[in-house]
Amino acid sequence: MKGGRGLVILCGRVYHVYMKKYMKKFVKLGLLFSIVFLLSCAYDADATDTTAGRSCAEKPGRAQMAVSRHFEDIRDNEAKLQYFFQQMPKGGDLHNHLTGSVYAETYFDIAMREGLWLDTETFVLYGQAQSPSCVQLQPGMENEQYLRMRAIDQWSIRNFDTYDHQLPQDEFFFGTWSSFGAASYQDMAELLTKLKIRAAAEHVQYLEIMATSPRIDGDWISRHDAENEQMISLIARRDKDGFAAILSSLFADWEDDPAMQGAVTAYADIISDLHEATATVAPDVSTYYQAYASRNVKDPIRVFAQLYVGFKAAAGHENLVAVNIVQAENGIYSMRDYWGHMRMFAFLKAEYAPVRTSMHAGELHLGLVPPEQLKSHIHEAVAVAGADRIGHGVSIAFEENAPELLAQMAREGIPVEINLTSNEFILGVKDGEHPLLLYHAHGVPIVLSTDDAGILRTNLSQQFVIAALRYPELKYGDFKRFALDSIHYSFMPEEQKESELLKLNQSFTIFEESFAP
Ligand SMILES: [Zn+2]
Repeated sequence: MKGGRGLVILCGRVYHVYMKKYMKKFVKLGLLFSIVFLLSCAYDADATDTTAGRSCAEKPGRAQMAVSRHFEDIRDNEAKLQYFFQQMPKGGDLHNHLTGSVYAETYFDIAMREGLWLDTETFVLYGQAQSPSCVQLQPGMENEQYLRMRAIDQWSIRNFDTYDHQLPQDEFFFGTWSSFGAASYQDMAELLTKLKIRAAAEHVQYLEIMATSPRIDGDWISRHDAENEQMISLIARRDKDGFAAILSSLFADWEDDPAMQGAVTAYADIISDLHEATATVAPDVSTYYQAYASRNVKDPIRVFAQLYVGFKAAAGHENLVAVNIVQAENGIYSMRDYWGHMRMFAFLKAEYAPVRTSMHAGELHLGLVPPEQLKSHIHEAVAVAGADRIGHGVSIAFEENAPELLAQMAREGIPVEINLTSNEFILGVKDGEHPLLLYHAHGVPIVLSTDDAGILRTNLSQQFVIAALRYPELKYGDFKRFALDSIHYSFMPEEQKESELLKLNQSFTIFEESFAP
């Protein structure tokens, strides 16, 4: 449903018709002019993209033209761009993982405070000593500085060196969570507090956060061994009817299963508690949440159980608005069961229609996996699972029906969440190899996001800077549109979205006026 955008465009057009006919009268109606102007300029960008109903018939205003000129003057200078985008309102960050977004310095501080144990050979944190190489972290300890610096390098991509780490970058990246995990599980509200304060400081007004996933008891999984084996077999055979039948059967069982219903309640409570605990922090930053399942696990029934809990909790929750699926897409089980995961989403989306979905799909590249495994993941996420947004979508050019898929994403307003630093480090994809301009040329809505700003040592402003340096085809109006689209394509309730869009337009008016001659 793209009603918000429709309203904005409609208001913009109505405004321009009236402007031609009743210009003199409008000059007198200052207040009305201001309100309608704010709405009309929502997509009043000097954007280069003019496809699929996303054209900008309106001319940019005087202030925006001044910003555009300034932007072209500075766009080759990284420091000036950093300064520019730091100040520019950026809307929301729609793709970020809470524990990956916190910087390693925070985890080290938590570990010191909590007296956690650090293995000085592997730099993995523990609650208790696990080996002779473990030391208990304490403030003021003799080699604190050395341990802190080494830990930061091991828990993030700072000073990453392939010789030192002896791991492929993607495996190093996904392995960092298990290293700092003992600190990240202590207090989610403390972590979210960091994110909200950082967002406010860089003019980001909205966060849609993957905070934590539903917990599924291991004993419960083992009680469903037979169904699990059956699922693996049905997925291997691509048996659509059989797979649909087992999903229906499990769903019916779980609706009457007190343990499963307890998991739904517990998960909803965790998100509510997190939201309430951080409600007064940076109150200008609105936060909503996505549930998610971890896909690179050997038991597909666990994925389905996590998705079930996520969807059901989201269906009755004010702030939990969507469901996602995470972990390395090229993982053994992620690849083996991808076909089944898409059908799990399709099934649950039909049961819980109001719940939205953003899906990590196409976080792949030639060389990371064989060409045969690049052909259809994004297509399946859109066509089978009904994804409302695509996370990453890097492998789009390798999809066998890419032209139709790009056209569908543009036509139906299915945006792609672009994470440039993440894609560069994990996939080794950057510059012209990255499909940002491919999406852009086909009119697919784009939002820029951070993914895991802490591990990747970045922030949202820097994602804008990188895009500006790499792609001179993108003009100021395009970046403004990315920001506006980050609110427009967010999953927050429509009423709240209208309010946030108005707020963002007001911020842009102030920002652009500061450049006017
Ligand atoms: Zn992600």
